[in-house]
Formats: sequence, C-alpha cells, structure tokens
Amino acid sequence: MHVRARHVLPVLLAALLLLVMPGRAHAATPAYSGTGWKIATKDGIHSLSPKPYTITFADSASRTRLTPYAQAAAAQLTSVTGTQFTVTTTIETPPAVGSCPAEHHLILGVKYRPVGTVGMSYAWNCYTNRPGQIDDHAAWGGWTWIDSEYWSTSTWFSSNATVNTTKIKNAITHEIGHLVGLDHPNYDKDGDGKVESYECARTYYGYLPVMCSPSGGYTTSSGGGQFTSIDTPGLRQLVKNYGLG
Ligand SMILES: [Zn+2]
Repeated sequence: MHVRARHVLPVLLAALLLLVMPGRAHAATPAYSGTGWKIATKDGIHSLSPKPYTITFADSASRTRLTPYAQAAAAQLTSVTGTQFTVTTTIETPPAVGSCPAEHHLILGVKYRPVGTVGMSYAWNCYTNRPGQIDDHAAWGGWTWIDSEYWSTSTWFSSNATVNTTKIKNAITHEIGHLVGLDHPNYDKDGDGKVESYECARTYYGYLPVMCSPSGGYTTSSGGGQFTSIDTPGLRQLVKNYGLG
C-alpha cells in the first residue's frame, strides 16, 4: 500500500502537466485562401473587425436604387460573420482615389461606366494600418461604384428576366465582398499557365463563387445576391484572422 501511494502524486502531476501544456500545433494561425475563396491580402486586408460596419450611399439616387440590395447583403454578412453590418440612409461623398472614407464606412453608389469599361463596376477598399494593434490589416471600409448600365435595359445580363435580376444582385454583392476583404478566387484551373475569367472552383451544384471574376453566384431567384457556400468560408476566415496578423 505505501509503495503504491508514493507513486500516486507523480502520476497525478504528470497528468496535470499534460492538461495545462497544449502543444504549439494548437496555436491559431491565419489563413488567406481556400477552395472558392481568397482574402484580399494584395489590397492589405487580412481580417474583418468584430466592431460594426456602416453602409452609406454616395447620393440619393444611389440610395433609392441600392438600398434593397445592400440590406440583403448586410443581413447575410451579419449572419455569417457575427459582425454587425447596418444599412443607413446617410449620404456621403466617396473620397478621392488613394484616400479612405470614415472608419468602417462602406459607401455604395451607381455611376455610368465608373472605370470607363462597358459593364464594369469597381470597389476601392482600405485596410487598418496600425502595427502592433489587434486590428492591424483589418478591413477599414471603402466605396464602390456600380455601373448604371445594368439597369439601362431589362436584358443587360440575360434575356431571362430571373437570371438578369440575379446577376445584378450578384454584381453588387461581389463589390461589397471586395470592401470587406475578399479577392477573386480565380486560379489556373485548366493548367494552361494563365488565370482566366470564370476559372474558379464551383459549388456542389455547379455555381461559381460570387467573388469569381467576372461575378459568379447563384442564378436562382432565391439565391441571387448571396455569398455562395464556397464564399462564406472566406468570410468566416476573415473573422478568424482578426488579431492573428
Ligand atoms: Zn471583382
């Protein structure tokens, strides 16, 4: 009995040490890409802040046109990331290219050929540059101009009315995706040495991620404007990356 008892304490101590000394392999590390998604590290964005973001509009006509699209995207972003995205009625002028808007403001606007190319919309995003702070390289905010040509006819994207509507929604969600830190996930899928349009992973049902270039996304009436099942892991990873560098 006494001999056994002497061994109990060292065994217990060893067990406790195992419990309180997790291996380094368990430490969280950031990730920047996966199947169907890529984080916009080329724009300096590594993560999404847990603090709320505010969606505003470049002018009243843009607010009238874009509010429904913005509300749908904001609801999904809030649900998927846990970060609050709120659509306001605020009008604010986007800053000059090379500058940034107020912190955590996403400004949406509609303009004819904003970068001079037929059918092309564009997003200008910013990141938090506060080395040593937990939010270093988090999405700061930014602005996007959606090409007004999408509404110039009822068949801009497709002669199928449902598909045309969903593609407008997808184009807007795509630009908002850039503002929160997602890049195009295109890659050299066919192995010809070039990364080309539409070269992206596909969902189980064959849809391109909404962040694919040009915009992918669901083309069903209920799915238009949504981040797809292979975009959302990228949104979740943006949140997981917060504070990890
Ligand atoms: Zn894009």
